[in-house]
Amino acid sequence: MKIFSCPKCKSDLFFENSSCVKCHEKVGYNAISDAFESTRLNRNLKFCENKKYAVCNWLLPKTDNSKFCKACALNRKVPHANDIENFNKWKKLEIAKHRLIYQLIKLKLPLVPKLDDDEGIAFDFLSKDNKENKLTGHSNGVVTILLTEADAVAREQNRVEMNERYRTLLGHFRHEIGHYYWMYFFNNNSSSLNAFRSFFNDERQDYGKALQTYYNNGAPKNWNLNYISKYATSHPWEDWAETWAHYLHIMDTLETGNQTGIAFTREKTDFNEEPVFKCSNPYLISDFNIIFKESTTLTSAVNSLNRSMGLPDVYPFIVPQPVFKKLNFIHSLFINKS
Ligand SMILES: [Zn+2]
Ligand SMILES: [Zn+2]
Ligand SMILES: [Zn+2]
Repeated sequence: MKIFSCPKCKSDLFFENSSCVKCHEKVGYNAISDAFESTRLNRNLKFCENKKYAVCNWLLPKTDNSKFCKACALNRKVPHANDIENFNKWKKLEIAKHRLIYQLIKLKLPLVPKLDDDEGIAFDFLSKDNKENKLTGHSNGVVTILLTEADAVAREQNRVEMNERYRTLLGHFRHEIGHYYWMYFFNNNSSSLNAFRSFFNDERQDYGKALQTYYNNGAPKNWNLNYISKYATSHPWEDWAETWAHYLHIMDTLETGNQTGIAFTREKTDFNEEPVFKCSNPYLISDFNIIFKESTTLTSAVNSLNRSMGLPDVYPFIVPQPVFKKLNFIHSLFINKS
């Protein structure tokens, strides 16, 4: 993600800031200019309606008919402000969701609310005991997120129970929206669908049965030679969503490396390449080899930093060649599109 600066005093701002720590200017994120701005300095802007509840810090043009920003306009079901416990959980989830939407805009993906178009996207934030008996997941553009996901203790418990190396709110959002964009890239497009199948296998196998088999038997031995996670082995759609989420992790972390000016000046690297490089802006690079090599150097350095602090690895994954090819295929979808 970009490192933003205050429109008044130019101090660094985090994406979640709604005022400048240094000069106290009230600021918000304008997705159109991809910058932080102030309604005092730019009177053509208004805050998203969810700013009232401290759920959102995004700005939109005053002329826009919508009360909500691009991220909040996708919401369909959210907890009532009187339901304080669930409301606070929703707030935490929105932090991750706004980061997701930032990146989807960067990738120029369509973000049409289902409320306006049946083919669009809707986010339903539901409590665990919802009437529909729904779980976190995706169905036909509707991303359901259980509010309990925002509970850090429950999430860690789930992570251990599900035998996962990594479980975060942002990871959830990236995974679930991946199912939606699968339809965008491959429904009604037989040539790209054939290409998809050559990397991820045939998705026409029974989805329900495949998941049941996975939950009964777990991942096959040596799953790590072909998949990014155990869960990715359950069905080609899940492999896609897991790999897609990884693609977004890689692009976002490398963009952050680029924005913070991280450079590597080691004498020798494992990759027989330029020993000196500054992290690139991955959204401007067509060759995924470069993105991947830089990302590997970056994440291994950050993993080492974390270990110095006694923390778990930021990126606890190893990418085997078949997964690299899947990631490369995902990147090619954007390159060929633009
Ligand atoms: Zn400032
Ligand atoms: Zn908003
Ligand atoms: Zn999934």
